Amino acid sequence: MKLDTLAVHAGQHPDPTTGAVMPNIVLSSTFAQDGPGEHKGYDYSRSGNPTRNTLEACIAALEGGAHGLSFGSGLGATTTILHLLRPGDHVVCGDDVYGGTFRILDKCFKPLGIDVSFVDFSDPSRLEAALQPNTKLVWLETPTNPTLKVFDIAALAAITRPKSIPLVVDNTFATPVIQRPLALGADIVLHSVTKYLNGHSDVVGGAIVVNDDGLHQGLRFLQNALGAVPSPFDCFMVLRGIKTLHLRVERASASALSLAQWLESHPDVRRVHYPGLPSHPNHSVAQRQMALTGGMISFVISPGKDHDTLARSRRFLKAVKLFACAESLGGVESLIEHPALMTHASVPAAQRNALGIDDGLIRVSVGVEHVEDLRADLAQAFELSATVR
Ligand SMILES: *Cc1c(COP(=O)(O)O)cnc(C)c1O
Repeated sequence: MKLDTLAVHAGQHPDPTTGAVMPNIVLSSTFAQDGPGEHKGYDYSRSGNPTRNTLEACIAALEGGAHGLSFGSGLGATTTILHLLRPGDHVVCGDDVYGGTFRILDKCFKPLGIDVSFVDFSDPSRLEAALQPNTKLVWLETPTNPTLKVFDIAALAAITRPKSIPLVVDNTFATPVIQRPLALGADIVLHSVTKYLNGHSDVVGGAIVVNDDGLHQGLRFLQNALGAVPSPFDCFMVLRGIKTLHLRVERASASALSLAQWLESHPDVRRVHYPGLPSHPNHSVAQRQMALTGGMISFVISPGKDHDTLARSRRFLKAVKLFACAESLGGVESLIEHPALMTHASVPAAQRNALGIDDGLIRVSVGVEHVEDLRADLAQAFELSATVR
């Protein structure tokens, strides 16, 4: 079945006793057993829960994977994957990742003896050069956050596969509507469900999808052992949100492309990062790998009449009326944020500058409002922020 159909139906059947078309929310933490160990597949909700199983089956189907696992946050999913490693192991990670992914590797796992190299995968040979005999995991996001670089998943998988090093792709920005990493050779797909999958900015959640049975067993053990599981109520909310995933991503992508083109021609914009623009350095990979180019844009604003870029950025984010100045992304409402001051404040300044996360960089998550209203809001914010009032 096509993704549009899976988004509405995967893992879900009308309830056999009542006919309810939406899955039941099973809040019970424990399940009655006929005798010790004699149960109907559930004994305790950290280990397994019917509403969670439904969500896991749905997300696995969307990614074209055999097994899905869901978590209480995207970072809960990340924590769980990283516990596959042992002291002395080495990870190669993309250099332009979610700030929290950088932080957990740098501040939580490095002190436990897990070595990390951060690498720009734009040229896949850099991955080859970064591999060590003790490399046990390769981690990437594409498009990256916040500069929206696009990496060639199939080319990178062609390097990790022969060496049997699991390749993790964080597919939060693209969603399975745009690309399915497992089909391109990735071993583990990760989602911050908080973003597009739920899509309504009212749940924090995470997910993992894999095909390999052994990897699934290891992760399933860790899901229960570490305990970063989602609530059944949140699982229901996400199932509800996913039903319109394809519609939301299609609309956001169309509007983002239109806004990116407009921004690129705006006199107060120095640079636009958007994979759908021919000026994007990885445009040809994006054309090949991505069905749509997504709802995320970042751009560099010019300084205002006071020649102060940071002050202009601050004024711009205060001037928008329809866009909410907020972290996060992937919801129905459009959001705007300043990575250096907000989402990527935990990345050291030297590294931020090397990545182009500078004072003028602004990131936009395009929602499903009418694109003309969004453009008008940005236009008035450019005007209002040009001068100091
Ligand atoms: C938000 C995000 C995460 C972390 O997910 P949480 O649900 O906030 O824990 C990981 N990766 C990417 C790309 C994200 O945007």
